[in-house]
Amino acid sequence: MKNIPASLLHELQSVKGFNEADFLAAHTLPPPVSVRINPAKEIGLFATNERIPWCSNGVYLNERPVFTLDPAYHAGAYYVQEASSMFIEHMLKNVLLDKKGLRVLDLCAAPGGKSTLIASLLDKDSLLISNEVIRTRASILDENMTRWGHMNTWVTSNDPRDLGRLKGYFDVVVVDAPCSGSGLWRKDPRALDEWSQANVQMCGERQQRILADVWPALKQDGILIYATCSYSPQEDEQILDWLAGEYKVETPELAVPGEWNIVPVTTGNGLTGYRFYPHKVKGEGFFIAAILKKEEADTLRPVRFKPANDKKIQQQAGHLLRADDLVFIQTDKENYSAMPAGHEADMHLLQQAVYLRKTGLKLGKPAAKEWLPEHEVALSIDTNANIPFVEADREQALRFLKREEMGISGLSKGWQIIRYNGLGLGWVKALDNRVNNYLPKQWRIRMDIE
Ligand code: SAM
Repeated sequence: MKNIPASLLHELQSVKGFNEADFLAAHTLPPPVSVRINPAKEIGLFATNERIPWCSNGVYLNERPVFTLDPAYHAGAYYVQEASSMFIEHMLKNVLLDKKGLRVLDLCAAPGGKSTLIASLLDKDSLLISNEVIRTRASILDENMTRWGHMNTWVTSNDPRDLGRLKGYFDVVVVDAPCSGSGLWRKDPRALDEWSQANVQMCGERQQRILADVWPALKQDGILIYATCSYSPQEDEQILDWLAGEYKVETPELAVPGEWNIVPVTTGNGLTGYRFYPHKVKGEGFFIAAILKKEEADTLRPVRFKPANDKKIQQQAGHLLRADDLVFIQTDKENYSAMPAGHEADMHLLQQAVYLRKTGLKLGKPAAKEWLPEHEVALSIDTNANIPFVEADREQALRFLKREEMGISGLSKGWQIIRYNGLGLGWVKALDNRVNNYLPKQWRIRMDIE
């Protein structure tokens, strides 16, 4: 690895928990590999692996496998995520205390690490809005959230300012901010080339802009989670101090066991954040804080809407799902989606401010004599277990994921889900003399599977 910039090392000398010799030594070691298991798609993977202490479903792996060649990864059985950032689970559990029916925004969400984790923590009446402003990254986010399988995670692709128009709507806003990225140098040494104090300064200004834009969307007594993967105080403690200067805020007390080696830091304005150093934890550089909004927030007027449950569609497509109390709604020109009845009002309210890219569970559309199912149904955790399926072995599953001939004979005719270890991967339709593969082209594995 190239030399770590002297100006950063110099600046960190006075920051709590920093030790130059240990920090540099940690940068000669490879980054640990970790994954987080999807508790809603638990198939007994990694059962004996070392656990990540601050995340109930996080485990370390001894080496980095080729994840692309594991069909369980494509089925959403786990997410590959850096260990330090999984601390958000401990933080949310401490501050939310199992509250139900929450409205949560993950503002800078792609590729979906924090969003998949938050989705696993929320009850089914809660709603998570995963937003990513950059369109190409929003489609990766969409794929990852679809794999995770929760219909109460919706995807938007808007500027923070648009979300700020949803005044006082969210109980929790997560800002995992774009940053100078010094905490991830072990994973991506090329990022060292792009690092400069000028960039740190630019990132700090952008972080303030993002926070100011989204702040109106947070409720009074709501919680802002602010995180970066930068060591620079300008992007961490100084941002908390900036928040304290602009707004009325507090940081709640968190119980963090000392043996986890996470370093609590107190800012000039008396707020608390948490630093993760690679020489202290088995993970990468990370900073996170939970901030309570202690000031009044404007609120939105409820929208009036005509409930639009389509009973005919419910009859045609209802058998695909096992969840009840759902409404079946047309969400674009042709397609229908299902969502809990309690989320229909949210859809109308959100539509006033943002473009809803993924809303509820996309079911597909009716055709002349059948229902044309959407890919999402195969990956959903609410899919009806009675839908015809074929259990594929690893090689057959990988062939399906490459959109190649799978080599499965004797399929009964019609639509079926291809499963791997009991988890859905996608649809096929068996005809008299061939099997059509309905995996969306953009999901296809491009790697050699031999
Ligand atoms: N939360 C993600 C996760 O856990 O997988 C990682 C988020 S990454 C640190 C920051 C994200 O912010 C990137 O996806 C980036 O595209 C997005 N971003 C960049 N500029 C932004 C801006 N001006 N406003 C909001 N988000 C921005």
